[in-house]
Formats: sequence, C-alpha cells, structure tokens
Amino acid sequence: MNDIITNEGTPNSKEMSGQEPRHNILLIEDSREDARLVQIFIKESDNLINGDVATRETLTSGMDELSTGKEYAAILLDLSLPDSRGFETLERLLSKFPNENVIVLTGYDNIDLGVEAVKAGAQDFLVKGKFDANSLAKTLRYSIERRSVLSRLKQAEEEKKESRQRYQNIFTQSKDAIYISDLNGKIIDCNESTSELLGYSVEMLKDMPSIHPLLFDEETNQDFLDKLKKEKTVKDFEIVFRSNNGETYDLLVSANLNESDYNCMIRDITERKRAEEAIKARDLAQSRAKVREELIASVSHEMRTPMNAILGNSNLMLQTDLKSEQLDYVTFIKQSSELLLGIINNILDIATLKNGRIMFEKKDFNIFELTKSLYHVMKFQFDKKGLSFDLNLDDKIPQTICGDGLRLNQILYNLVGNAIKFTHEGQIGLNVNMLAETETQVKLRFDVSDTGIGIEQDQLRKIFEEFTRVRQKDKFYEGTGLGLSITQKLIELQGGAVDVVSELGVGSTFSFELTFEKGQLNRQEDTPTDKNDSWEVDENLTFNLLLVEDHRMNQIVARKSLEKKWKNLKVTIAENGKEAIDILKEKKMDIILMDIQMPIMDGYETTDFIRNKMPADIAKIPILAMTAHAHISKNNNFEQYGMDDYVIKPFDAKQLFQKIEFYLNKGKTH
Ligand code: ADP
Repeated sequence: MNDIITNEGTPNSKEMSGQEPRHNILLIEDSREDARLVQIFIKESDNLINGDVATRETLTSGMDELSTGKEYAAILLDLSLPDSRGFETLERLLSKFPNENVIVLTGYDNIDLGVEAVKAGAQDFLVKGKFDANSLAKTLRYSIERRSVLSRLKQAEEEKKESRQRYQNIFTQSKDAIYISDLNGKIIDCNESTSELLGYSVEMLKDMPSIHPLLFDEETNQDFLDKLKKEKTVKDFEIVFRSNNGETYDLLVSANLNESDYNCMIRDITERKRAEEAIKARDLAQSRAKVREELIASVSHEMRTPMNAILGNSNLMLQTDLKSEQLDYVTFIKQSSELLLGIINNILDIATLKNGRIMFEKKDFNIFELTKSLYHVMKFQFDKKGLSFDLNLDDKIPQTICGDGLRLNQILYNLVGNAIKFTHEGQIGLNVNMLAETETQVKLRFDVSDTGIGIEQDQLRKIFEEFTRVRQKDKFYEGTGLGLSITQKLIELQGGAVDVVSELGVGSTFSFELTFEKGQLNRQEDTPTDKNDSWEVDENLTFNLLLVEDHRMNQIVARKSLEKKWKNLKVTIAENGKEAIDILKEKKMDIILMDIQMPIMDGYETTDFIRNKMPADIAKIPILAMTAHAHISKNNNFEQYGMDDYVIKPFDAKQLFQKIEFYLNKGKTH
C-alpha cells in the first residue's frame, strides 16, 4: 500500500488497447472551474479512460452519494471543501468507506499533504493546476486497475481460506476415520473418528511408531502397502478389524499416496453388511418356505388322483350286489377315503392360501338357498348326534348377493362341522344378520353357535393357528387342526375378521363379518344349483359324450358312473386333447368332459382349439372342465378359455349328472 504510483508512470500499452469499459467517477470539488476542467480532461483523454463524472460540492453530499450504494470506480477528492478541510477530509471519507478508491486533489503549495494522504490509504494524489488530460486519465486508470487486482487477490485469499476450512470441517466432523501417515504407519495427523475406531486418543496415536499393527495383520498390511505403492491409490480395500474391546468390524479402507506419506479414509460398513446378510437370510428363508409349500401342494395334488380312484371305485362297488359283510368293508373304505381326501384338501388349501395365489369369485348367489342346502348336506350329521339346527336369516338381506359362494359355503361348513363335532347335546345355531347396507353393498354378520364342550380362555387365540388342536380330557377329537386356520384366512383375505367367544362346558360362538356386493335381482340362474333337491335326471336321454381324460382309473370311474345313470348314453374316450380333436372331426358329440392337466395338449389348449378352429357345429358343443379342487382356487380360467362350467374331481355324482343334463337341454333350446 505504500507504493506510490505517480502520474509519470506509464500503463502497459497492451492493456490499454481495445474497447474500454465505462467507469463511474465521483468528483467531490467545490470549485466549479476545477470541476469543469476535470470533466473536459476526461472527455479529451482519448479513450484512455471512459468516465461518467458525477460532481458533489461538499464532503457531506459526496458521502451521501456514496451511501446510495452506487458503484464508483474512483473518487476524486478535493481536500479543501466548504464542510471539511485538509487531511481530515480524507480520514472522514475513508473511515466510512474504507474500500473506496480515492485520489486526492491538493493545492500546489500542499504536496506533502498528498504524500501523507497516500500513506493514509488514498490510492494516489494529483496537484491542482499541474495535471493534464493524459496524466489524469493515467492516474485514474492505474488506480482502478490496481484496485481490481487487489480485490481479486483478496478474494482468492478468502476462497483459499474457505476451502481450507471446508476440508478441515470434513476432516474433523467426518464419521469416517481419516488419517495421514508415513508409509511406516507413523501418524502425522488424524481425526477424532480414527481415535474412536482404534480406541486410543489422538495424542496416543500420534506417539505410536506405527498404527498399522492396530489395523492390519501382517499379510494384509503387506498387501495394502504393495497396492498403494504400485497403484498410488487404493479404493475400498476390505478388512476385518478387531477392536480392543474384542468386537469385530467390517471396514473399507481407501488411501492415496503422496510423496512420502499417504492419506487414508476408513469407513465402517459393519451395519450395512449385517443388514445385507439379514436380508439374504430372510430371502433364503422365504424361498425355502415357498419351495416347501409348493412341494406340499404338488404332493397332495398327486395324492388326489389315486384317492379319486379309490372313492370312485367304492362308489361303483356300492351300487353292485354285495353281501352284507362286503357292504360294511366297502362303506368303511369309502368313509376313510373321504376323510383322507378332506385332509388332503385342507393341506392343499392352506398351501394355496399361504402362497397368496388364491382368487375369489364374484358371482351372484342366493344366500338363503346356500344356507338351506348346507343344512341338507349336514342333516345326516345332526341327526346322528341328535342335535337340532336353528337357522335364522335376517329378512332384510337381499335374495341374491354377489361374491364367492363356494368359499362362503366352505367357511360355514368348517364352522358348523366343528360345532357338531364338539357338541354332544343341544343345538347348533346359524344366524346371519345384516349390519349395514349401501346402494351397492351389504355387510353381513354370521354367528355359528353351539352348546358343546367349549374352549378354555387361554386357548382361544391358539386354535386359529395351523395344526393346533386342544386336548380334551386326555383325548383328541379327530381332525388335523387346519380347519380354523383355513377359515380364518379365507375370511381375512376377503376383508373380514373372525372372532370367538366360548365358555368351557357351556358352548362356543364363532362370528365373522363379510361385505358382499348386491346381486342383480331376478337374474335367471344359468347353472343348476342344489336348490332344487327334487331335480331329477331324465334317465332315458340319448346322447354322445366325449370324455377327454388321460388317467386310466379316472376314465373307468367316470365311464361307469355315467353309463350306469344313462342307459342310452355312448361314452367315447380320448387320452389327450389331440386325440379328442381327431375324434370330434369324425363323430358327432353332444357334450364334452374335459380334464385340464393332460399330456400333449392340455384342456385349455384343446378347448381353445375347438372353440376357435373347428366348424361352427362342433365349436358350440358344451364343454365341462374336470378339475381338482385346488385348481379352482388358483385360477378360474374355465370361462376365459371358453368352457361352459366345471365339475370338481372326485365327482359328486349328483352334481355331475345335473350339470350334464342342464347343458344338454341348454344346447337343444339354442
Ligand atoms: P380340527 O380340524 O382339528 O377341528 P380346527 O382348526 O377346525 O381343527 O380346530 C382347532 C381346535 O379348536 C380343535 O381341535 C378344537 O380343540 C378347537 N375347536 C374348534 N371349534 C370348536 C368348537 N366349536 N367347540 C370347541 N372347540 C373347538
């Protein structure tokens, strides 16, 4: 700042070429003549300086102008003003505006004052009457440039300081351990996190001959250093670190080699690794559970086919002339196989429910009829135990509601079945009440009550768990403990909840609520139901039936049952879809029973072919899918593939006959 640049100095000519920017110059001068002269000189300066000059006549008004915030590249300050004289004028100005570029104007007899002014912070001085256009312009220019260089320098200094501070902050605040050391591991500097990780204070670490033994075993240390020396940088070098309190950590070490030292950053990834491992373990467990469930499902599915044969054959046998002893045996075989089939169905159900592959139907059904037919189906069991059944349905419930009637039936069948099983005298009640009704929906509450043995309070939650059965006076009632968990899942998956209240020795009530959509009233039933118990089949019907089924046993069972019912029926058997199509081309058929799972061409493909690629009279033949129970829950593809309906294997003979006759008649009216 003590350098004095006089008006003799010559600015670099190169810097002066080109278009000059315009500068605002503030002139604080009370003499009008002097002020005019300055203006003229600047104009005449031959582009050395392009200035817009604002003039103020007093120090106060000059300072007011500066207070407006307008930028001035230079201030020409006369030191003798009406409101301030001498050196003090500069001092007053600089005390308020210390960063302004001030050039003082002094009288001829006052040159010393100019020198003093520069020492006190003015950029330069000019002696009045002694400067011309050229020297004024050069002085202004120099001072402006000098100031800009200075301010740039100052800014650079600031930035450097800031960036140093930033790095310092990263260093001190980082959760990662950061240290700088020589290649022997002698610490030059390290942050708090290093101290926390290694378990020694920063000072202690700095005093150690090497921190390498704390971090690495010998071999790892060698690997690390080799890599660092060879590649100058090491990224994400994984080490396992044992802390002095005995815990192990997974660390990632990254380092950069400088000349004789290196800086190093250590990240603790223990938590991350543990989380990753937990996720892996969970995924593995999930996929194992899935495999297990699928295995159970497929094994039980396989068991159904022979069961089907056993049951079917016992049914056939029961229709022949048997000695009373034989009748007993066959009845026993039949009952046992029904029981076994029930268990298999339960296991299949639970697997299907658990892997979430269940879909619920939305079909209209009549709940009054559904409950009535449930009673008919179970009547035999009530009668056997001498129990009465009290069925009550709220009159307000609409005749048809829309939802999964088959599943509702299964739920009620389970609950009423349990009620019968655990009750020895008294009555079983089924109450259905309407809790709420909107324009499109009804919310129903079902209560199944019994006067049976009851359940202990602390067992109430447990009975919904899989395979849970409560021991009763040293004996178990028959069952697998799956019924209630299936029931609960079926209810919950449809958005409802099941509850139970019970008193030991008095009885139990199982309740659940489900919401159904309202059905379309008065819609024609388009499939036969059990509603009409007297629905009798016309045994004299004459027709041709194509049975598409690959399983030999099933073929025999189906054929025998059908031929027994209809004396004038002709059954043709196809082993697979392809054979079925060939037969259809040759022979006229009235109805087709189609297995789903078959080799070569399965039931879906075959139906699709018949419906879309065969002549119109063949394409419209009614097709009934034959499917195992579990299949229905998974996908109701029958209609989508153009099948008219399905029958469940093993056949419920009555249902099979009714459906066949229904579709035969339907075909005739078309
Ligand atoms: P299970 O097929 O063995 O009957 P559930 O899951 O249906 O299996 O029932 C589990 C257990 O809950 C039964 O073994 C029985 O102990 C108890 N339980 C279920 N319903 C009743 C009831 N109505 N009265 C008394 N106990 C019942």
